[in-house]
Amino acid sequence: MSPLEDFAEIGSDWFWETDAVLSFSYFSESTKRFLGREVAELIGLSRKAIAENADDKAFWQPYADDLQAHRPFRDFAYPYGHPDGVTRWLSVSGRPIFSQDGCFIGYRGVGRDVTAEHKTQEALSEQIRRCDAALENMTQGLCMFDAASRLVMVNRRYYDIFGLAASDIIIGLTHREIVKKLFQAGCYRGEITIDQLCERTTISLQDEHPVPSYRELADGRIIAASFRSMTGGGWVATFEDFTERRRNEARIAHMALHDTLTGLPNRALLHDRLSQAIARTTRTHSPFAVLMCDLDRFKAVNDSLGHPVGDALLRVVAERMQAVLRPYDTVARIGGDEFAIVLDYLDEPGAAACLAERLIEAVGKPVCLDEQTIEVGVSIGLAIADENDQSTDDLFKRADIALYEAKAAGRNTYREFCPNVGNRIATRSQLGLDMKEAIRRGEFHLVYQPIVEATTGAVVSFEALMRWQHPLQGTISPSEFIPLAEETGLIVPLGAWALQEACREALTWPKPIRIGVNVSAVQFRRGLEEAVLSALATTGLPAHRLKLEVTESVLMQDADGVLACLHRLRALGVVIALDDFGTGYSSLSYLRRFPFDKIKIDRSFIRDIADPDAAAIVRAVVGIGERLGMGIVAEGVETVDQLKLVRQEGCTQVQGFLFSRPLLPGDARAYITGTQAAAA
Ligand code: C2E
Ligand code: CA
Ligand code: CA
Repeated sequence: MSPLEDFAEIGSDWFWETDAVLSFSYFSESTKRFLGREVAELIGLSRKAIAENADDKAFWQPYADDLQAHRPFRDFAYPYGHPDGVTRWLSVSGRPIFSQDGCFIGYRGVGRDVTAEHKTQEALSEQIRRCDAALENMTQGLCMFDAASRLVMVNRRYYDIFGLAASDIIIGLTHREIVKKLFQAGCYRGEITIDQLCERTTISLQDEHPVPSYRELADGRIIAASFRSMTGGGWVATFEDFTERRRNEARIAHMALHDTLTGLPNRALLHDRLSQAIARTTRTHSPFAVLMCDLDRFKAVNDSLGHPVGDALLRVVAERMQAVLRPYDTVARIGGDEFAIVLDYLDEPGAAACLAERLIEAVGKPVCLDEQTIEVGVSIGLAIADENDQSTDDLFKRADIALYEAKAAGRNTYREFCPNVGNRIATRSQLGLDMKEAIRRGEFHLVYQPIVEATTGAVVSFEALMRWQHPLQGTISPSEFIPLAEETGLIVPLGAWALQEACREALTWPKPIRIGVNVSAVQFRRGLEEAVLSALATTGLPAHRLKLEVTESVLMQDADGVLACLHRLRALGVVIALDDFGTGYSSLSYLRRFPFDKIKIDRSFIRDIADPDAAAIVRAVVGIGERLGMGIVAEGVETVDQLKLVRQEGCTQVQGFLFSRPLLPGDARAYITGTQAAAA
């Protein structure tokens, strides 16, 4: 038994000794309890031989080095292969022993079973490894300080955010020293000082529910910094690069208030600006204006040239509008081709009309897109507001009513709201609602006005004219409900019905007499051809007895599509007449584009035919018509004098109250019989 006084290993579990070749030569009795083997079995073995990881060279190297140099070793722990199959961790300490003459004769030492500690240690290391991984993979930069505000921990992201090297900020620096370094590195702009920054941090730390504070770095990035005291002393600071998030927030905020196609404010922002204008006017008593704008012929461009061109056109219009307006005006896109404008700070109400005129001029200039020149116009409704106006909705409504008037007045123009227009429109929109019901209830009927030979008075055809027998308002004129039906699209079923009804009626007349039916532009876009074919097929009326009366406006939208459709109908034998000739802008060019069978000269020229200028126009039209082989009809002949003059100018057929007002079907039939009898 060896003296162990030079070891203070009171807590040791067993003792051991080796010989000079490092084979065990002795074990204390207690050894068996820990190693699970008889001492006799162990004698003569080396330590490595009883270890589980004998092959792990690196593991054993330091131990081997000590032994080689005959140095003492302490607390060397290794895994031991216990006979029960469960690994134990043993920790051994040993010292070399020398003979009296100084010869190395072996090692002597103690051993301990440290399996439990080893497990704890391992769990701890794993925990630390995980913490490190978490820390290094955080998107936030993190610094931890002790109670004296000295840095105890920092992660890589922190260096990245501030663009620093790990050597710049080292463990042990105080918070103030770190802030100073950040300033020296030029991270912050001059607007804030070291003192202010430190003070802000201190204040944040006192906050029970701290919120992030935002700091702008010199390079423009926004950093969100949070500070939090830790229970048990010390505090943590986290830093997050907020730049992208801020940018996204700004983008989303912009999107919520702007139209994506044109980038203009949207309805929400417009309402906001309008409310501001109202508030301002209440204070300053100077007026402002609301403009509602609707593009003319946009739908035709969109339908015929495609949506990409339509989109591009809207962008051009948006730019042009902005160019005309003043910096403090707001133009918003509030629908497909609808724009609304708030003109703030008007010197005088008349200024709004000036701007409206300039808008019309700017928008109306030809646009070159996709190698095509496109022309659209804009109709504008204008409402002037003063300090008595407090409701955004009312203002919009007034501008809307004025817009409606502008559209009715022939488009590409503006109208200012005046109160009595409101009533008229109010009944109009009520009519729009009624109309749907009316179609269902069969409140529409057709009347027939004869068109006669200018020389003989013989009936050549009848024009079918629609009437609405309203249960409360009595007979409503087509000039009132047709535009409304066009606006709402109800003209499509209504027009199809009229075709059917007129063809059916015409079958009751003697063979050569034709029926003329008015068709609107809207119908051309939506199934006119089918409606015509269906009317002819179901009634059995020969195509050449049907005449369609179209106005120039039909040709102005999607001219190519309309022309193709007219050609197809004409090829079937349907007669095509140009109605209201002379009221449009460029009638003559349309005459060249399509070989109309008939031209109906508008009533206004006939009314004024005593005036040499009007007479000259009629004469010119007759000349052109004759050259192009088109028959000329004079509309609205009311007096014998007028009849004489239109005959003189060469009109071949006439229509008007002089001969007959539009007649109910039975009266129309009687009229035919009457004229035939008169002729006989
Ligand atoms: P429009 O095609 O020019 O029809 C002729 C209009 O002139 C009719 O008015 C007719 O009653 C009126 N008129 C005829 N002779 C005279 C006259 O000697 N003096 C005066 N002052 N007026 C005369 P109405 O029936 O009120 O129709 C107005 C317009 O409504 C029509 O003008 C036409 O554009 C439209 N319309 C009528 N029925 C239909 C229809 O079924 N479909 C479509 N799309 N439009 C229709
Ligand atoms: Ca007509
Ligand atoms: Ca007409």
